[in-house]
Amino acid sequence: MNATERLQARYEAALMPNYGTPPLALARGEGCRVWDADGREYTDMFAGIAVSSLGHAHPAITEAVSRQVRTLAHTSNLFVHEGEVTLAERLLSLLGATGRGRVFFANSGTEANEAAIKLVRRYQGPDRPVFVAAEGGFHGRTMGALALTGKSSIREPFGPFGLTVRFVPYGDVDALQAATRDDTAAVFLEPALGEGGVVPPPPGYLQAARDACDASGALLVADEIQSGIGRTGAWFAHQADGVTPDVLTLAKGLGGGLPIGACIGLGDAGTALRKGDHGSTFGGNPVACAAALAVLDTIEAGGLLEHAAQIGRQLADGLGQARNPLLAGVRGRGLWLAAVLTQPLAPQVEVAARQAGFLVNAVQPDAIRLAPPLILGGDQAAAFLAAWPAILGAVPVPAGQEA
Ligand SMILES: *Cc1c(COP(=O)(O)O)cnc(C)c1O
Repeated sequence: MNATERLQARYEAALMPNYGTPPLALARGEGCRVWDADGREYTDMFAGIAVSSLGHAHPAITEAVSRQVRTLAHTSNLFVHEGEVTLAERLLSLLGATGRGRVFFANSGTEANEAAIKLVRRYQGPDRPVFVAAEGGFHGRTMGALALTGKSSIREPFGPFGLTVRFVPYGDVDALQAATRDDTAAVFLEPALGEGGVVPPPPGYLQAARDACDASGALLVADEIQSGIGRTGAWFAHQADGVTPDVLTLAKGLGGGLPIGACIGLGDAGTALRKGDHGSTFGGNPVACAAALAVLDTIEAGGLLEHAAQIGRQLADGLGQARNPLLAGVRGRGLWLAAVLTQPLAPQVEVAARQAGFLVNAVQPDAIRLAPPLILGGDQAAAFLAAWPAILGAVPVPAGQEA
């Protein structure tokens, strides 16, 4: 047994089987490269599910986190520390909402959405019990966020839930308008489906959601947990649509690898949760806030929004040029892309990419997700594109199923 196999055996004996056994054991990382337990090197085109926005062991994060952990690692929410205030101010400023919004800090995406659900309940009261969410949408695994998650195979075994949810097909304006009524508390939407396979909605969909909410009195909650913090080449994906949500949730890329989530209420939604209504012992933890501030500073100072947009175009163009019957097309924006396949062979493509030294993700049976660190170099993107035709070519298409 090699080191990876030994770790996998120990994993199987000691960890719950909810994830299955991961195919790889990672030992360390630097920039956009990681090394496995047996010393093999990979280019990370996936950033741990769009989390490691500055790659691995970025000096801005390691220095900010080390300094903070040496100074004060934890305060609880009974005491203020400057980092949480500065981070909240920065996020509001990036949203153009300075003085017109408030932030609650959590430790993960699903917790940010739980805060949003409670905020909506408080804001709307008992006469508006219904939530609207999208089929194929993903909002998290805790009971509230899971109730909103539009994938029945992961939701239904765990019901009943305490939320009434109307699911609508993602991207269908008529269905969204019909579902958003005077009993509706909020519409929860991702600006593009992330776990659903990096699926952007048709143009104008978010605006239509905004209009339907305004017409009915529902709140619009944008789940930017995956799409936010530069992933699409904008600070927040909804900004490209010119739409302002009432509530925004963030997590994955915000901490650059440290666990942090945020629920941001804009306008009156910012003050809907009252004293005593909600809390988190670790939320707004000084170390996580220091990491998030380092992420925001580095994105800004490094021009990483423009960089993500440019490298994203390079990747999207190059991916689409492979002449292989398995490739149907490319979708997504910035460094948040899916290569769409003509056959449900994404798991095999993921394995072929790994064997070629690249970490990618079979997000759907027919879609390969790329969400590399925002610092991915043009040369690294080019190296992946050079390997891409052979990666696709390594996957045998079952006879009779060629496109
Ligand atoms: C990942 C994700 C979540 C859940 O975040 P966790 O940190 O895993 O709880 C919620 N919404 C979206 C859009 C996500 O991509």
